[in-house]
Amino acid sequence: MTNRTTYRVLAAATALLTLAAGAGCSSSGAGADPQRVDVVAAFYPLQFLAERIGGDAVRVTNLAKPGAEPHDLELNPSQVGEVSDAELIVYLKGFQPAVDDAVAQNGGDRAFDVTSVQPLLDASAGGHDHEGEEGHTEESGGKDPHVWLDPTRLAGIGDQLAQRLGTADPDHAADYTARAAALRADLTTLDDEFKHGLATCQRREIVTSHAAFGYLADRYQLDQVGITGLSPDVEPSPQRLAHVIEEAKEHQATTIFFETLVSPKVAETIAGQVGAKTAVLDPIEGLAAGSDGDYLSVMRTNLRTLQTALGCS
Ligand SMILES: [Zn+2]
Repeated sequence: MTNRTTYRVLAAATALLTLAAGAGCSSSGAGADPQRVDVVAAFYPLQFLAERIGGDAVRVTNLAKPGAEPHDLELNPSQVGEVSDAELIVYLKGFQPAVDDAVAQNGGDRAFDVTSVQPLLDASAGGHDHEGEEGHTEESGGKDPHVWLDPTRLAGIGDQLAQRLGTADPDHAADYTARAAALRADLTTLDDEFKHGLATCQRREIVTSHAAFGYLADRYQLDQVGITGLSPDVEPSPQRLAHVIEEAKEHQATTIFFETLVSPKVAETIAGQVGAKTAVLDPIEGLAAGSDGDYLSVMRTNLRTLQTALGCS
């Protein structure tokens, strides 16, 4: 802690000297890097947004480490310190309780809750509606946090993030707006690819390891059957497993989807019972360790996986 503090003071002093020697451009905030806006992102898709829109005017720290599943993220003391020191905290209220707590204690008006831009859908959206089905009733009152899996909703969040960055750093406001527009164009292209790529398919049911794909299903008229609920660390009950197997057979599912950051065991068990294959459908809650992809490339991989599994032409 002492070393780190010393380093930060030195870094800040060096940067100030550099500034004083330079043309005297103004710096807002007093983060670790006075020339850039210190942004803390709660998990990968928000890091992607902040980096694309912030460009070289921001320094983004992701609280969730690569390869780690972010739902049950716990914060160590230095991460709580990062939340306290950040000039902007980008998070999704209701997704990660530890982040919600840190923001409630230290976030103040520096926190940007993406659900303030995109109100969350009910947990059942885009999914099978099974009245009284065990495992669904439990979460029927819940909200689905996986809003980033609809590219158009992510673009809307990006526009608002550009506004917030522009307020924190007015000198670069026009840059933030321009980069958000460029990102929106990329996300619109992606959305078009999904719309056309999934327009004509033999099946529309997707059996997924956790119910992360409600927004994707809602946007592209798919029908999600989640093996577990909204959270990946809840074991499905035997009744739920039996029900998913029945659904998969009824809809002649050829593929049971699992995720990069969660064990494929349950998906493999169901696939074995149904005579289906397994494939990765990535909810992009985090990048796999060592991945050189980004949100756009992983979404395109997801699209190809869906086209194959659902028999789309
Ligand atoms: Zn999830």
